[in-house]
Amino acid sequence: MNVPFVDLRAQYDSLKDEILPAIQKVIESTQFILGESVAGFENQFASMHGAAHCIGVGSGTDALHLALWAMGVGSEDEVITVPHTFIATAEAISLLGARPVFVDVDPDTYTMNPELLERAITPKTKAIIPVHLYGQVCAMEELMEIANRHKIPVLEDACQSHLATRNGRPAGSFGMAAAFSFYPGKNLGAYGEAGAVLTSDRALAEKMRMLRDHGQKERYHHQVSGHNYRMDGIQGAVLGVKLKHLPGWTAARQRHARLYDQLLRNVGDLKLPTLSPDTSHVYHLYVILSKQRDDLRKFLEREGIATGLHYPIPLHLQEAYAGLGYQKGSFPNSESIGTKCLSLPMFAELREDQIRFVCNKIREFF
Ligand SMILES: *Cc1c(COP(=O)(O)O)cnc(C)c1O
Repeated sequence: MNVPFVDLRAQYDSLKDEILPAIQKVIESTQFILGESVAGFENQFASMHGAAHCIGVGSGTDALHLALWAMGVGSEDEVITVPHTFIATAEAISLLGARPVFVDVDPDTYTMNPELLERAITPKTKAIIPVHLYGQVCAMEELMEIANRHKIPVLEDACQSHLATRNGRPAGSFGMAAAFSFYPGKNLGAYGEAGAVLTSDRALAEKMRMLRDHGQKERYHHQVSGHNYRMDGIQGAVLGVKLKHLPGWTAARQRHARLYDQLLRNVGDLKLPTLSPDTSHVYHLYVILSKQRDDLRKFLEREGIATGLHYPIPLHLQEAYAGLGYQKGSFPNSESIGTKCLSLPMFAELREDQIRFVCNKIREFF
């Protein structure tokens, strides 16, 4: 048996009859950029989150960059985030000339440790980006309390956490703004690059809409020098169709996770995902930790099982960020997770027999 890490084809096969006419409609309307399909998706996505505004953009990286820019982050500023994340989180900071300041993650939830946040705040801190990693919402109550006390805006990196909740509130509804990615492999994936920012701050939304489209509010009148972050019409149409299925796909991921949990309990030295109380994890990734990660990964590959690493080298040890002056040992939890993490196959269409096969092989390895 072969078990892929994700299977985008299986999802397309189940959606073909809905997706193709939606794409055709965009092509025939020739609204290739923004237009009705994007506006329709923006409205649906915003209301699903109880947010007042959604700004559809070209990618999750664009979403992070645009939101920080609109918040006024510039070259003299510091922005706090975690080193255990995808590099795009920090790139959005560096692209504005600001300095990424890292705080370590919690050893169980793998998200920003609120106890370490306060110490990293300086007079230069202009924003905080907690990352809802793997599909689980950060300890937002604690993080927001600290951020609010210091009057620092929070941008949630919700690129992996579509429809995840904490105390009944969805990811993306806690901070001043939230960035989402619709990269094809994400829980809600476009057929190309796409992303979005959610906010309920009207002034921020207006600024982002302007910056997204070359700083113009009205055609030919460029109030500020902006950029092109616009979402494609075809992506808006694909996302509009897929959004209706997202709750069902999320429930499927959660069922798969329960089965993994059950079949992998007390196997070898495995550490399984920890659910923090009051959160619903949406399992963008099902990540296990093992000291024998590299051997286990090779073994599974030989058995036809694809796995991933998210993320083996924390950002403070990347060559790109050598200039920040961090050392090996600066963030022990992120470093330890990096050497042990292994992402198992996870997608809505994954079958029970495939999960059983993966778990049997893992048991066999140990
Ligand atoms: C995917 C991802 C991004 C970037 O999204 P793109 O759409 O690929 O640009 C940013 N942050 C995190 C945590 C991600 O997983």
